[in-house]
Amino acid sequence: PERTIVDVSELFKELQLLAKSQALAKGCRIEFMEEVEDSMEISIDLKQIKQVLLNMIKNATEAIDELHQERSGLIRISAERNGHFVKLIICDNGSGISAGALARLFEPYFTTKERGTGLGLAVSRQIINDHGGTIKVSSTKGKGTIFDISLPLVIN
Ligand code: ADP
Ligand code: MG
Repeated sequence: PERTIVDVSELFKELQLLAKSQALAKGCRIEFMEEVEDSMEISIDLKQIKQVLLNMIKNATEAIDELHQERSGLIRISAERNGHFVKLIICDNGSGISAGALARLFEPYFTTKERGTGLGLAVSRQIINDHGGTIKVSSTKGKGTIFDISLPLVIN
């Protein structure tokens, strides 16, 4: 597989422009953590990992859309070191996910959307697994959702 060594802060920089326009188009705010810890390097297929994160952000904007909430929609992206891994956290205050849907979230073709493909998360999980990482989700219906992607750090 194609792998490049990228610093997480670099990855965030590369993502911001596209992510911001994607979120803004849906009328929600997006905040990237400002002080990402220095030198958290990951060895990744940059295109694939960007695709995963943009997928997550798209889902978050759609979940915010769905809630028609009065409080403004907010997506937060952050990163923290966790042993030999980095945790990338995508947090939204959108619709949240029911327990029934949570159990099936990563199944191919599982969607709750009229025009959904149900492939975003299935493909994302495959990509993250291929990188030796994991994706986890926790959610409260009506409150919001947190996705947490763990990727192995390059050890120097
Ligand atoms: P799609 O977006 O085409 O439906 P995905 O695989 O991206 O397919 O997502 C599957 C399902 O997971 C969505 O239909 C939605 O029900 C749920 N989901 C994913 N992300 C979120 C989120 N941030 N908030 C609420 N529900 C979500
Ligand atoms: Mg999707």
